[in-house]
Amino acid sequence: MNKRGHVLNAVLLSIGLGYVLDPSGDFSTFARMAEVFLPVVLGALFPDVDTAFGRHRKTLHNLPVLAIFLAHPIYHAGNLQWVWLGVLTHYVLDYLGSKRGIALFYPLSDQEFAFPWGVATTSDWAEGVTVAITVVELLLVAALVHVLPQYLPPEVTQLLAENTALVAQ
Ligand SMILES: [Zn+2]
Repeated sequence: MNKRGHVLNAVLLSIGLGYVLDPSGDFSTFARMAEVFLPVVLGALFPDVDTAFGRHRKTLHNLPVLAIFLAHPIYHAGNLQWVWLGVLTHYVLDYLGSKRGIALFYPLSDQEFAFPWGVATTSDWAEGVTVAITVVELLLVAALVHVLPQYLPPEVTQLLAENTALVAQ
């Protein structure tokens, strides 16, 4: 996906995430949007730093890099806990929204993975696909935050709620 697609996806995702985390629709919902906006947008732009440094769609487009961002909130508090979502959504868009794909297991393997029916970044459909992907992502995040905890042991839910904001308290 190109830069425009990544920004569009991150902005829509932040708006939706505000509602997922605080469905009231009150001022507090907008406060949540503002809170997650910067980390999600930063995370979504971060992987393409490897166009200038390292090997594009390899160096910063892989699961070990995502793991570093996911682990970050366990050690440091603050709203940087949502950067991982920006990084993950960037990978999803490059996986589905490009013909070339990304090297998920770099540096272990150079092989690039792409969705067989991926949409070229230059396609007229790229924007529509980006919005559709965003909607699906928001449904998954909502399930993660609101549905998953019912099926987890209470201690695990507590741990996730305290450290990741992944699940509602
Ligand atoms: Zn990329």
